[in-house]
Amino acid sequence: MKNIYSNIYSFDKKTLKKTIKSLNLGNIASLPTETVYGLAGNAYSNKAVSKIFKLKKRPKKNPIIIHYYDKKYIDDDVILNKYFLKLYKKLCPGPITFILKRNKKSKINSMATANLATVAIRFPRHRVLRTILKSLNYPLAMPSANISSGLSPVSSVDVYDEFKQKINIIINGGKSKIGIESTVVDLSGKPKILRPGIISSDEIKKILKMKLSKDKTNIKAPGMLKKHYSPGIPIVLGQKPKNSNQAYIFFGKKLKKRNNYFNLSKKGNLKEAAANLYKIMRKIKNAGYKKIFVSKIPNLGPGIAINDRLKRASK
Ligand code: AMP
Ligand code: MG
Repeated sequence: MKNIYSNIYSFDKKTLKKTIKSLNLGNIASLPTETVYGLAGNAYSNKAVSKIFKLKKRPKKNPIIIHYYDKKYIDDDVILNKYFLKLYKKLCPGPITFILKRNKKSKINSMATANLATVAIRFPRHRVLRTILKSLNYPLAMPSANISSGLSPVSSVDVYDEFKQKINIIINGGKSKIGIESTVVDLSGKPKILRPGIISSDEIKKILKMKLSKDKTNIKAPGMLKKHYSPGIPIVLGQKPKNSNQAYIFFGKKLKKRNNYFNLSKKGNLKEAAANLYKIMRKIKNAGYKKIFVSKIPNLGPGIAINDRLKRASK
């Protein structure tokens, strides 16, 4: 029997070579990051960026995060500022995305930035992705590797689940350790959080030594769309299921073992809960449950990011 996962590759020299060659031709590949798996293409190439939008069925007005190896390569693409430099020094490479003003001479494809005057940039930490980024002479436009508005993938098999053989290369880099998308911080004006993540707003406040803006106007981020991160079945928050055909996601407490009960973290650790969120939601969906109930999750630290995703998944 033919191996159905024939487009999933483990990472070695041969895979690296094959991936670089493919990306150089304007093709796309699914690559691991520490947050979630991405769908990557040359950020300077119209061909590559168009393919990403088409494959994901992503609305044209949703810009894509651009990924770099390090700060050395961004000067021509964005305008740096002191907030960025402080956060970069403390948090990069890592699960944080910065919105900066676009440099006029930037070569980033304008579809990738939805024609905005801003660019979202990130410096991912995952070893495989860093090795690839270091070998390219362009940054990678890379949204999560899922059909738009759905669940983000946290393993190579999750990506396969979404796209089957429609992607030539999916690199297996293990389970994404963070498991939810990066924190997005807008630094194009007074700093503000656009999307909560594992790096908390308190941590950012501490580094910048200032309060963050609460201004909710001017939504620049697709992660800000009301419906997003959805497993494709209804989610009810803060309630218990009515019967065993409905799945129950809870946190910490010791409940009697039941097939339809899923614990985000037995230890009651919110970071672990975040890392398990999409994995568990995908498992529930694949098991054929038609509805998910979720217990209350403490709204602090990583819990803020979890509740943000749950709220939008439930829309
Ligand atoms: P995702 O759907 O996970 O790829 O999320 C992309 C995130 O990137 C969004 O939540 C936005 O915050 C952000 N984003 C990407 N590009 C831009 C841009 N050019 N200007 C502002 N925000 C952007
Ligand atoms: Mg996404």
